[in-house]
Amino acid sequence: MSGTMDGRGVVFLGSPAFPDAARTALADTRLRTNLRRATTTIRDKRLQVTGELDDWEDLRAAGEAVKRRTLRHLDVHLLRLEESVTRAGGVVHWAADAAEANRIVTELVRATGGRDDETREVVKIKSMATQEIGLNEALAEAGIAAYETDLAELIVQLADDRPSHILVPAIHLGRAEIRDLFATEMARWGRPAPEGLTDDPAALAEAARLHLREKFLRAKVAVSGANFACADTGTVAVVESEGNGRMCLTLPETLITVMGIEKVLPSWRDLEVFLQLLPRSSTGERMNPYTSMWTGVTPGDGPRAFHLVLLDNGRSDTLADTVGRQALNCIRCSACLNVCPVYERTGGHAYGSVYPGPIGAVLTPQLVGVEHAASLPFASTLCGACYDACPVKINIPEVLTHLRAEVVEAKRAGRRLPSPEALAMKAATAVLVSPARLGYAQRAAALGGRALARRGRIGRLPGPFRGWSDSRDTPAPPTESFRTWWRKNREGEQG
Ligand code: SF4
Repeated sequence: MSGTMDGRGVVFLGSPAFPDAARTALADTRLRTNLRRATTTIRDKRLQVTGELDDWEDLRAAGEAVKRRTLRHLDVHLLRLEESVTRAGGVVHWAADAAEANRIVTELVRATGGRDDETREVVKIKSMATQEIGLNEALAEAGIAAYETDLAELIVQLADDRPSHILVPAIHLGRAEIRDLFATEMARWGRPAPEGLTDDPAALAEAARLHLREKFLRAKVAVSGANFACADTGTVAVVESEGNGRMCLTLPETLITVMGIEKVLPSWRDLEVFLQLLPRSSTGERMNPYTSMWTGVTPGDGPRAFHLVLLDNGRSDTLADTVGRQALNCIRCSACLNVCPVYERTGGHAYGSVYPGPIGAVLTPQLVGVEHAASLPFASTLCGACYDACPVKINIPEVLTHLRAEVVEAKRAGRRLPSPEALAMKAATAVLVSPARLGYAQRAAALGGRALARRGRIGRLPGPFRGWSDSRDTPAPPTESFRTWWRKNREGEQG
């Protein structure tokens, strides 16, 4: 579903720019109700469990420090990881972009032995990296079915929809919609939903469990992402809540893990920090119900073959930007989405990217180039709630303003004539540097305001200023400026 930008994927091709998509989303009251309910619940849980720890701020600082240190010598840690995984019996592959990663995974699945129908399907653990590269679509083109096994991802797959949240991909759907979906679509993908299925969460979970069980037991190949990988031991870690990951990581004969290169940690000991930060920030739990770790292959236990695909796909370009590179510190907890007033109202689809919300607004333009996602850095009020919530202290507002400047610069460079906004700023500069000109401008504004205002407000500004007044109240300028009032009333008084 994700499209390609020089083979990179990430964004959903054909999606409207954020302002247009947001306008449509805002008109959907059911979506807004679902989002408000879900984000409020997760937000409250997160606040409760992070508030329990006296050293929460120290943990955040430690997480930030480890991530920053890792990025400074990313090449060294990655080579060390390759060595460790190879030593433990795994095979490491390097993919420069989405197209290369998809090719590698497709060839690996094809090369796996077994009956034809077994090698034409894989089970998948929820993974942002594989969504980013559009792996399911690439496998489908090669005649290989990819079955999502995370409950929310399964729902999204059955609905032929797109995920709208990093952690809760089906956050935009209600229970009744999910029930209908199971009843009508499950049979198309395998075992049908039980007769008389209700929208009781336990009944829905049981239906999914039965549907997925036969796929777990049959599949010869599993594809996963990775939350972390330790360079010193070659250990890869996946955290999850449902146990579907554990099934995928242990039952099939071959395991293929696609991991963004920024997920490497220098050492096993670093997990101590992140396994505390991640569950509390994401699901609001003290620890994840399932934390699976594996190091290469172990004879007689788990998959017989392990392949680790290290994905760049724009990350090296992001790393080269000294301000923007902090976006690579992200551990995909989604805390920034749940506190963002823009995300809460528009939902994830409006961002047109695999990565929605505040982190998507800074990561997507860097992965695909700002020219391909120019509206995203502006999809924020810059309130800073994301920065406060981020467990690894990514200064998202700083990156947003940095990217906004890049978008403006790129637009200016491509224009022969200055934009109306640039002309307005130039005119404002000329007025503001001269007290006399400012006085004239204030008097002119007061006169104009009186002519246009109704009950102290200007309804709609004329001409090019209409864009401003269409979505805001414009108060009429005061009849007397502060400077005039001061001259009349206070000038000459002793301070
Ligand atoms: S930017 Fe921070 S808060 Fe947002 S998903 Fe990443 S780690 Fe979590």
